[in-house]
This record gives sequence, C-alpha cells and structure tokens, in this order.
Amino acid sequence: FNAVPEDYPVPGETTVYDTSETIDLENVSLNGGILVKVLVLSIDPYMRGRLREPGGEILHRMPPFVLGQPLASGGIGVVLRSEFPGVEAGAHVRGLLLHQEYMIAPNPAMLEVLERDTRLDWSIYIGAAGMPGETAFMGWREYSDAKKGEVAFITTGGGPVGAMAIQIAKQDGVKVIASAGSEEKVKFMKEIGADVAFNYKTTDVREVLAKEGPIDIYWDNVGGGYTRRGHGICQPAREECGQISGYNTGVKPMKNPMLIVAKSLHVHGFLVGSLRPKYAATFNSEVVSKLASGEFKYTEDVTHGLEKVGDVILAVLKGTNTGKAVVRVAIE
Ligand code: NDP
Repeated sequence: FNAVPEDYPVPGETTVYDTSETIDLENVSLNGGILVKVLVLSIDPYMRGRLREPGGEILHRMPPFVLGQPLASGGIGVVLRSEFPGVEAGAHVRGLLLHQEYMIAPNPAMLEVLERDTRLDWSIYIGAAGMPGETAFMGWREYSDAKKGEVAFITTGGGPVGAMAIQIAKQDGVKVIASAGSEEKVKFMKEIGADVAFNYKTTDVREVLAKEGPIDIYWDNVGGGYTRRGHGICQPAREECGQISGYNTGVKPMKNPMLIVAKSLHVHGFLVGSLRPKYAATFNSEVVSKLASGEFKYTEDVTHGLEKVGDVILAVLKGTNTGKAVVRVAIE
C-alpha cells in the first residue's frame, strides 16, 4: 500500500508491486507458526475502505491498510512447513492472507484448514462458496423474511453476492428483478433465473420498478440514487448489503429518511461475519453442495499474477470485472 487514493485507486500509485523482499523458504524461522504458499486471493469492494488514512473515517469494521506494508485479503494457500499443532504441511488454509507469494502466519488459529469438494476449484472457496456467497445466503436467510410470490429487487446481480442472492431468492419462490452494468451480466442473471434482468446503464431503473414492482425485498448493494429509487417503490421490507456507489466518492447520507417512516420500511444492515456462527454449517450443507453439483451457478474473473492486484481492485470498483474477481498467485 503506497498512497491513500483521493477517489478511485490508481494502480502503480495507490498500490505498487514490490519485489525487494525475499523469504528463505528453507531456513526462515516460523516461531511456532506456519509457512504458506499463497495460491489465490480474493479482491473485494470492501478493500477500498481499507485504503484510507490511519485513523480516517471508520465506515468499515476493518482497520486501514498500513502504508508501506503489503495488502491483505481473503485467500487460499497451501502449507509448506508447520510448527503449529494440528496444521500439517500440505494442508490448505483459508483466511486473511498477505498479498505475497509466501507468508509466515504467526497465528494459524486465525486460518481455517479447508477440505475441498474436488468438483470445485480452490478459488470458488473465496467466491460463491466463500465470503460473498455466505453474504448472500446468510443475509437473505436472516433478514429477507421471503414469502413465495413476493418480489425482490437485487442489485449488482452479476457479481458473486448478487448472483447468489438471485438463486436463493428463486429457490424461495420469489419473483426477482435484477440489475447490473453490462449485457454479459444481464445474460448471466437471466440464465440463473432472474425473472426480469436489466442493464441499469441503458435502462431507466424507475421505469422497470414501476412496471414490475412494487418490491417487497430490496437487496441493496449499491446505495446512492439507486437506494432512493428503490425506497420509493418498496413495500414494508428490505435489506442493506453494500453501498458500492459511494466507496470511492464518499457514501452519501440518505436524502429522505422520512421515506422509512412513511413506507414503514424495515431496513437491516449487516456484516457477514456476524451471521457466520449461526449459518456456517447450513451454508456448507445447502449451498456448497449445490455449487459442486452445478445446481447453483457462478462466474469467475481470474487474473494471473500479484503485479495485477491494483488493476483488479480498480476493475471491481469500476464494475469492469465480469465475475468474482480473484488473483491467482501460484499454481500448486
Ligand atoms: P462485485 O464483484 O459484483 O463487484 C462490484 C460490482 O459493483 C461491480 O462489478 C459493478 O457491477 C458494481 N458497481 C460498482 N460501482 C457501481 C455504481 N456506482 N453503481 C452501481 N453498481 C456499481 O462485488 P461483490 O458481489 O463482491 O459485492 C457486492 C456488494 O456487496 C458490494 O456493495 C459489497 O460491499 C457488498 N458486500 C457486503 C458484505 C457484507 O457483509 N454486508 C460482504 C460482501 C460484500 P455492475 O456491472 O453491476 O455495475
């Protein structure tokens, strides 16, 4: 992490690829920890919130990245050496990994030893079968109160969170209106069952909602003007997952909170981490198996090489990623 961005991060300026430090894999001291070879890293919208000044505005639960230090994000690695009881060399671990080819994890208890369904690549475990998939499943189960025949509006429906939300909503017998920012994503949203799928860049959101609504459940990943339009057409139920439209330019306060009162809206914000203890086991049994069997679909946008991390962060924030954004650091 090289410099705090003013709005959108600038690859090569906000983040730089630095090869000056090396690790002696044979002799490096582990001090009771494990040596991990990093295989894949997840690039997520929330990372923008960590590219901030120390002590900057806390819109995110996670602390800012440290200037001059490597970034970190969800990832999967393979253990090369271990001095930690219960974690063997050869095991795969998932958790917050440094953006390095190799890392020493001083506290492996923070990482999860993971088994894989061989029908799924490891990278899926940081996408549809990982945090973004969990966000959709857990947030939907906890807050949607979905009933057959109700109508949901799901935004960023072509991404990993939105796509999983669409598929779970369809399982619950809900009519799904879904939006995304490209024709390719619109096609995918239709393939996974969205009843109405549209490109918000070329179609008027208000017109679609006026025709297809009113909405009972509003899965809001975007915020800003989108949220206002959604509020205007909501029945009394909705939930807040993300506010990506403001991550680079500043999240705008709600323009008219009185709408919440006037429409008796139930607004639920949540962070997936808080729902994990309640839903992790059900997620594994209900969702991961369906991904492996092909019943649930996903898309991935894989970029090779740590040096591309800055470009991928920008792609996610601009919406040019075509599926779950992952950086493949190494092949096993
Ligand atoms: P995606 O991989 O779908 O990437 C983000 C997408 O957001 C972009 O591809 C783009 O898609 C869309 N986007 C970007 N800027 C705008 C904008 N100004 N207006 C409308 N759409 C925009 O992301 P995820 O599926 O990983 O995450 C989706 C949302 O879920 C984010 O808001 C994220 O912060 C939130 N989230 C919340 C969690 C929680 O615990 N509450 C956990 C994980 C994610 P498009 O082509 O549609 O424009």
